[in-house]
Amino acid sequence: MPLTVPVVGIFTNGAASSATRAQRAARLDDDIARANETWGNDCGLNFVVLRRFTLNVEIDADSVMDVTDQSISDAVDAARRRTNDATAIYVVYLSGKNFAPDADGNLPDGKGIALFSNFRSTTDYDLYGQVALADGALNSNIFPHEAGHGLFLRFTDPDDINSLTDVDPSNPGGDGHSDDPQNLMFPIVPRNNPLINADQCSVASQSKLIIENAAQNGGRAGRNRKRNGGRARRKRLKNKPQMVKRFNKIIAMMRNSARSDKCARRQKTRRRRSAKATCPVCYRSKTNTAVKMKSTRPNAFRRKSAAKAR
Ligand SMILES: [Zn+2]
Repeated sequence: MPLTVPVVGIFTNGAASSATRAQRAARLDDDIARANETWGNDCGLNFVVLRRFTLNVEIDADSVMDVTDQSISDAVDAARRRTNDATAIYVVYLSGKNFAPDADGNLPDGKGIALFSNFRSTTDYDLYGQVALADGALNSNIFPHEAGHGLFLRFTDPDDINSLTDVDPSNPGGDGHSDDPQNLMFPIVPRNNPLINADQCSVASQSKLIIENAAQNGGRAGRNRKRNGGRARRKRLKNKPQMVKRFNKIIAMMRNSARSDKCARRQKTRRRRSAKATCPVCYRSKTNTAVKMKSTRPNAFRRKSAAKAR
């Protein structure tokens, strides 16, 4: 069975490699290719571009503390309205080299989680990914790493609603990261040949961020496909928005307490720069209004959809 992870790219004003349509396509395609080099080669997952949007807002990563910040959620929600809430990892490309420093003084290049959109039970729910990347994530393995955080979200015990976790399955005592410096999920994301191990692959393969899993057990994608969304089921769906809110809050808290992701090479450069103190920080104004989107449906996805239909 194919294991497809759809990705929606959302470019905001001033993000690296976003000035032209070709540049935006190249940046998103590079992230997808890197995800397939790790998750594809080591685990059989197939990341594909679902849609690409340009959003007429500027969000400086430096003004963002977390991936659930309102500016990021607004951008993702705008895209989800355009995709009819499609199951996907929604990645927002921000301007600015890196995020605001965390409690430990780290300057992360990327942040990512999975969030519930509908929750009915521990086995019957929908997920979407929310990833934000700063310019520092360009040409790195930060995207596949952040996607990993989303793919690890699961209930370890279907009978226990409190068993929600996103810890790295190969490092149960950790905080969502691997202790192996060559592993993709190490907090300092490896630049070359990152690895995925069997435990990570086993959990990731069951994620409802994978379209084929979302279609099972009455997931939204499945209901859409079967067109059997009866009135009773729709009613049940509407009954649990508070549960969704509660879980998403818990997930955000789990991510906040985790070690942040760094890129080793960039950290070194930064240390050199700060020693010289010749690099003033410019704070650009943040505007969340005028949400105007242009969308493109890349040929690659159209071809893939056509191939699947055949
Ligand atoms: Zn991480």
